[in-house]
Amino acid sequence: MKKRHVIILSIFLAIFAFQTSAIAEQSDRKIPRKDTGDAAYEHVYYLSEVIGVRVAGTPEEAETGEYIADQFAAMGYEVEIQPFTAVNWADVEYTSANIIATKRGKSDRTVIVGAHYDSVSARSCPDGNALTGAGDNASGVGVMLEVAELLAKHKTYGTIKFVAFGAEEVGLLGSRFYTEQMTEDDISNTAAMINLDSVGAGDFFYVYSGLDDNPVWARDMALKIGERMGYDLRTSPESEYFVYGTTGDWSDHRYFRMLGIPIAYFEWVNWDIEPDGGIETEEFGWIMHTCLDNLFYTSIEKLEPTVDVVGALAYKISKQKPRKRDKGKGAEDNKPISIQVANGLPN
Ligand SMILES: [Zn+2]
Repeated sequence: MKKRHVIILSIFLAIFAFQTSAIAEQSDRKIPRKDTGDAAYEHVYYLSEVIGVRVAGTPEEAETGEYIADQFAAMGYEVEIQPFTAVNWADVEYTSANIIATKRGKSDRTVIVGAHYDSVSARSCPDGNALTGAGDNASGVGVMLEVAELLAKHKTYGTIKFVAFGAEEVGLLGSRFYTEQMTEDDISNTAAMINLDSVGAGDFFYVYSGLDDNPVWARDMALKIGERMGYDLRTSPESEYFVYGTTGDWSDHRYFRMLGIPIAYFEWVNWDIEPDGGIETEEFGWIMHTCLDNLFYTSIEKLEPTVDVVGALAYKISKQKPRKRDKGKGAEDNKPISIQVANGLPN
């Protein structure tokens, strides 16, 4: 199965490569010859088992940020550390940072691939269990890093930015700061934002657009890519809580969505259990933010399709020529609900 998927991705990337004569002769020789998902899993292992919990403002969060910056630099990316300060529950100021890797294309039109690298704090767990943030969100960081590695050698027309956000679990602080620093040009040049949050533990693979009138083309492009690759990539059903294909504002896509930037937000969860998408697995129930969020419940079989689809999506968007406005059909009549995840924290 794995080899077949690598071949499918290779063919997929090669088809897009041939659309542009400048890179036609490069064909698919640059496609990495390795099993998709392996690198992502190694990053998940390092973040969750070697570093462990990575709470905003702690030395472990900073160590994680350095690890990510080192990985990006080793792949040849231009890396920027974007520090910001916040105040914790005890009213003490601390520093966190976003780690930004940029691959400049001929055009400033940009696709952003983001994942938060902090985790919730540790808790006492029964024997054999532990909360290490493997799923939430070492998995998203692992996928982002593997996609960055995969795309590092490909020439793209557009610009790609990979952003590891700090301090998500304490109120989406890193992504809020990042969007606050964007200029009018940055905003209008951003074609889409791909958010990866908890992509290693749920039952099924999903992609959503953002709430309200958020354009849906990036989500639908992802769904088509998933279908072409033979994956069971889904989106959320129409429910009393959400319009078809959307979900809540509880992760880093929120502030990009509020700027009108098209969103493709990926997660592994199970919408068949609860109509608000609130439970990850039939067998184990809730994993995120619990004593089950560790490497044991994070599976390489989930990281692999996520890397394939996200890599192809970012690559395809980076190939698009700039449009006057990247408008799409919005998800209208969305109920302005304010429910958060079951335990009241960001994802
Ligand atoms: Zn998360």
